[in-house]
Amino acid sequence: MPVNVLIIGAGIGGLALAQGLRRTGISVSVYERDRGPADRPQGYRLHLNPTGLRALRECLPQQVLEAFEATSGRPAEIMTFYTENLRRLLTAKGRTEGHRSVSRDTFRNVLLSDLESLVRFGKTCTGYRYEPDGAVTALFGDGTTATADVLVAADGTGSRIRHQYLPHAERLDTGMRTIAGRLPLTGRVRALLPEVLFSGPATITAPGGAGMFVAVQEYPRQTGGDFVSWGLGARHTAMGETSGLDGERLRSRALALTTGWHRNLRALIRDTDPAVVSATAVRSAVPVSPWQPSTVTLLGDAIHSMTPARGIGANTALRDAALLARGLAAADRGERALLQAIGDYETQMIEYGFAAVRASLAELKRQTSLDSRAGLAIARTALRVIDVVPPLKRRIFADLGQ
Ligand SMILES: Cc1cc2nc3c(=O)[nH]c(=O)nc-3n(C[C@H](O)[C@H](O)[C@H](O)COP(=O)(O)OP(=O)(O)OC[C@H]3O[C@@H](n4cnc5c(N)ncnc54)[C@H](O)[C@@H]3O)c2cc1C
Repeated sequence: MPVNVLIIGAGIGGLALAQGLRRTGISVSVYERDRGPADRPQGYRLHLNPTGLRALRECLPQQVLEAFEATSGRPAEIMTFYTENLRRLLTAKGRTEGHRSVSRDTFRNVLLSDLESLVRFGKTCTGYRYEPDGAVTALFGDGTTATADVLVAADGTGSRIRHQYLPHAERLDTGMRTIAGRLPLTGRVRALLPEVLFSGPATITAPGGAGMFVAVQEYPRQTGGDFVSWGLGARHTAMGETSGLDGERLRSRALALTTGWHRNLRALIRDTDPAVVSATAVRSAVPVSPWQPSTVTLLGDAIHSMTPARGIGANTALRDAALLARGLAAADRGERALLQAIGDYETQMIEYGFAAVRASLAELKRQTSLDSRAGLAIARTALRVIDVVPPLKRRIFADLGQ
């Protein structure tokens, strides 16, 4: 039976699914609340691992894949750890063959290629209803509706569809808050950065459980040019609540939290345009028990949102997109019943998706267990020891970037 599909959310997972479905000839449309592709910055850098890349290659047609290859780079092999005064603690080298790094704005534009006629911007989904004939209708804030055989929620962490479909699904507040920004890689900004940052990112470990990640982003054919991104993380008890603060106030909050840190790190924050400073409350989805499949399903952050630690959320959303596209294509060809295809997808997705959520939460806990002075001193000593014992360093960082 020919299947037509409606996707809510033109983010990473939703667009990869749309590309994958269109490739197999399935009729698909995407509804996105942003007013257009350039409505808001999409964030900074994205690390794609072999799992995410395999899924991406399965979804994208050749010319879009070529655009991705041409605009992404190999991730840095070097990672350096510093104190907040930029005293080097350790430089590690990992294996990154088979991984890619991409600017998010550029990646979103690549995923949108050739989908212009299928994506409707400025459409905020407010919920859905089932029709008597088994179809499902998405409802939008502007009073319009759209009906299809299958509705896919790819609407990210705050998913309206998840709230209606799985109202018991919860997200745990980890207590961590991040403030992030980016600034163009001008000569002046380059001069602020330690030389080694041009070979790979830096992690700064600071007292009070605070940390900062700084990465130079130089990619070929990048939307908006090369830039350096920074992300500052701390518990809300140290950073204060960030929701509702505008860029100017977030930047002041970041400067207050980094009082006493190296002046070049503070200069990066101070020189960032407040318009591109944003904050995130780090939350993690609580595993949901399996549910009866229907013609409404979910993918990516809409169901298994996770912390940024380990950098696997987008990779998992891409895996969902490839798996769901395969299942829906089988239903479209009449090889499988539609609900069976959706149920099979959900069974696998729940298992690996929430395994990724658990791994990401465990990594966040490991990274933020340095609140006390004693804990920080022990961790720094450990990093210095690892730095001068090459076999130990090789073993510990063998999976850097996995
Ligand atoms: C700081 C940071 C760094 C990260 N780094 C990495 C990394 O290196 N590697 C990695 O794999 N993952 C990383 N992640 C995680 C990754 O960003 C997410 O897991 C990924 O974006 C999820 O994709 P998605 O398609 O599910 O959701 P999204 O990409 O968030 O897309 C959701 C889309 O739905 C739209 N939408 C929302 N509500 C509605 C509505 N009601 N109606 C219509 N449209 C709606 C949104 O506007 C958005 O376009 C990181 C996350 C953070 C916060």
